[in-house]
Amino acid sequence: MRVHGSCHCGYITFTSEGDPERTVVCHCRDCQVMSGGPYRSIVPSDEAAFELLTGELSIYHKVGDSGNARELAFCNQCGSHIYATSKGGEGIARSFGLRTGVLAEVAEFVPMFQVWCDSRLPWVTEFNALPGKPKQ
Ligand SMILES: [Zn+2]
Ligand SMILES: [Zn+2]
Repeated sequence: MRVHGSCHCGYITFTSEGDPERTVVCHCRDCQVMSGGPYRSIVPSDEAAFELLTGELSIYHKVGDSGNARELAFCNQCGSHIYATSKGGEGIARSFGLRTGVLAEVAEFVPMFQVWCDSRLPWVTEFNALPGKPKQ
């Protein structure tokens, strides 16, 4: 489905594609730190489907818990996180992990799977029935 996103201050707006059936909760330590919450909810989207409508994304580079280089796009005016993706390169079709909280359609993205359960906080029990993996 088509999704419409905006950061908190409205500087960044975009549209993209996202399949609610692929919504994932990530319990990795980086998501906890960077979101400021106990976990993060993400939906994959093809880079080709992502269309930035306003603003200019800032990119933070990190090495993920997986050991892979990651690029994290955010709004440099208000700090909202927009997506994470792999390191770019010519001819590489990337997947953007959209942060569902910035989507107008957030309520439709009900988590279906969970990853990095090794670092899931013990009191986060609402996803106990979801299939998951200990790491990525
Ligand atoms: Zn903003
Ligand atoms: Zn994560």
